[in-house]
This record gives sequence, C-alpha cells and structure tokens, in this order.
Amino acid sequence: MAEFDLIKRIRLRVSPRADVLLGIGDDAAIVQVPADRQLAICADTLNAGVHFPLATAPEDIGWKALGVNLSDLAAMGAQPAWCTLSLSMPSDDPAWLDAFLDGFLELASQHQVTLIGGDTTRGPLSISVTAHGLVEPGRALPRDGAQAGDDVWVSGSLGDAAAALALLDDAAEREVSPTPPARASTLRDGGATSAVARSLRIRLDRPQPRVALGCGLVGIANAMIDISDGLWADLGHVCLASGIGAEIQLAALPCSPALAQAFDAAARRILQTAGGDDYELCFTAPREARTQIEVVALRAGVQVTRVGRMVAEVDGVYGLEADGSRWQPPRAGWVHFSE
Ligand code: ADP
Ligand code: MG
Repeated sequence: MAEFDLIKRIRLRVSPRADVLLGIGDDAAIVQVPADRQLAICADTLNAGVHFPLATAPEDIGWKALGVNLSDLAAMGAQPAWCTLSLSMPSDDPAWLDAFLDGFLELASQHQVTLIGGDTTRGPLSISVTAHGLVEPGRALPRDGAQAGDDVWVSGSLGDAAAALALLDDAAEREVSPTPPARASTLRDGGATSAVARSLRIRLDRPQPRVALGCGLVGIANAMIDISDGLWADLGHVCLASGIGAEIQLAALPCSPALAQAFDAAARRILQTAGGDDYELCFTAPREARTQIEVVALRAGVQVTRVGRMVAEVDGVYGLEADGSRWQPPRAGWVHFSE
C-alpha cells in the first residue's frame, strides 16, 4: 500500500472541528486561533523498544502517542485542540495502521482533538506527535512558579506503569534464565495475579491525560508539571526552576490497590518516587487553595493527594519518613543517554 493510500486511510477517519480551516491534504494545515487565546505547543516521540515494549498492541501505541502529548498540554493548563502525527513504520501494513488509529482517535475524540496533518515514512517504528492547545493569555502554569510554603499535590496514583514494566522485565528474565531474578522476590505470594498485572499494564499502555484537572487549576496552582520520568525527577525540575526545594511525606504517596498487592513496601516506594510513565500531574499551590483544589478535582473526576510542601532551602527533593528521618531513592528517574 502506497504512502498516499495510507494517508487517505488516516484522513477518512479524522473528525472535523469548526476551527480547522484546512486539514490533512495540503502542504500545511490552517487553523483559526481564537483572538483571546495563546497557543501552547508540545511534541513527544515514542520509539519502539524505548518508550513502549516491542510487543505492545498497536491500539495502545496509538493511545499512548497522543496521551503523552495531551499530558504535556494539561500540565500547562492548556485545552488541547489540534495535533499532527509523524509516523515512521517498517512496512505499509494497513491492518496495523487501522488498529493504531483506533487507539489514537479514541483518545482524540475524548478530548475533541483533531488530527490536522503529519508525515508518513518507511523506517523503524517511531511515532512523533505535536499537539497544540489553547490557554488564556498569561495564565499557563509554568514550572518556575512554585513558592516556599506551597503544598505539593499529585493526581491519581504513582508507580503503576513502572510496576508493569518491572513485571515484564521479570517475565523476560525468567524466560532466559532458570534462576528467578532478584526483583521477583519483591512480589508477594510469588507473583501478581493476572488481574493485578493487567490493571498495572493498562496504566503503562493507556495513560489518562489529566486535562480537566490541569485546565481547572489555572489561576489556582502556582506551578505544574506532568510526571513522565518519576516524581523525584519531575518535581526536581520544578524545584530547580523555582529556586527552592520540596519535602515529601513518603507515607502520603498515593498507591493503587494493584500496586499494593504486587510489590512490597520497599519496592513500591522506589516505583512511586523514581518510576516513569505515570503521566499524573504534580502541582504546587498555597494552603488557602486546598478546598478549591478539592472541588476542581471532584469536578474533573480525578483523585488528588497532598504529598508535601515546598521549602525555602535549595535542597532539591527529599523524602521524610514517619519518624522525621530523610530518605532518597537510589536513582531519581529515567534519563535518556545516561548509562
Ligand atoms: P508533503 O509532501 O507536501 O509534505 P505529504 O505527502 O507528506 O505532503 O502529506 C500529504 C498530506 O497528508 C499533508 O497534508 C500531510 O500533513 C498529511 N499527512 C501525511 N502523513 C500524515 C499522517 N501520518 N497523519 C496525518 N496527516 C498526514
Ligand atoms: Mg510530508
């Protein structure tokens, strides 16, 4: 199937938006940006085997490719509007493309995002998405706005996606080696039930971008970031940009029932602080905003948890045990090109 047939397959499935004046099919798309909005733009690439396991279903790859980008817009407090898709695929496989689009367009329609263009090439499987969102002038939520004394909040629960990856790694290691890997000892009762493993895997494959929460926090939160590389690493960016530190109450970190079942407390703590791929929001806000934040979260249908506070000392992120002693994860989070 030729490039143009693949593009046609994509074009025929895209839903319209009134502000898309010219979508897929010309040299560039034309959109109408409202006079009273600023444009927020982000891009993220997913490479096979790096950003998702090679055996990931194409529907899930499509979902995640858009999801990680909508998460970035949410973290700015921007309402997603349009996106482009640059697709490098090893073969012109229409069944794979259709399944990929099932996931991609399902998430797009949930957020009224329209695919307005892109590029289709042959090569190793790699998906690049650029997403555009709208935000009131000057109201986007930056990383550098955190104030000493702010509460630190996170949405949803942490560590599930990294837990799913750890279980996969264990399974792969078991296939090549008869001796069980060290990490399997962290599993209670010798292995997670398949229902637990499945619910963790959904968190890895189908991140839910917290768009309603992110947009609802405009004018309330002081700083926001989405957690893609682990809480410590991403909150660390907020600390660095804001010139202050963050103190996290380790016992307060939100944990899903599945994670609690699959891993012991020590392993959970590492997954929750340094695991990647959560795509939850981490934000800081003054104490006085607590009630308002609970209301916004309730309306968005997302759990939020207060996990600590910003502190004046420039000390990066540190964890506090119940007895007041400090704790640090052995590794802050995921960094490309680091050994
Ligand atoms: P050009 O050669 O002018 O770059 P292309 O042949 O690459 O044009 O693309 C034709 C049209 O199809 C353009 O409007 C482009 O944005 C769109 N397009 C190509 N690939 C994709 C894709 N994967 N997803 C969405 N739109 C695409
Ligand atoms: Mg092109």
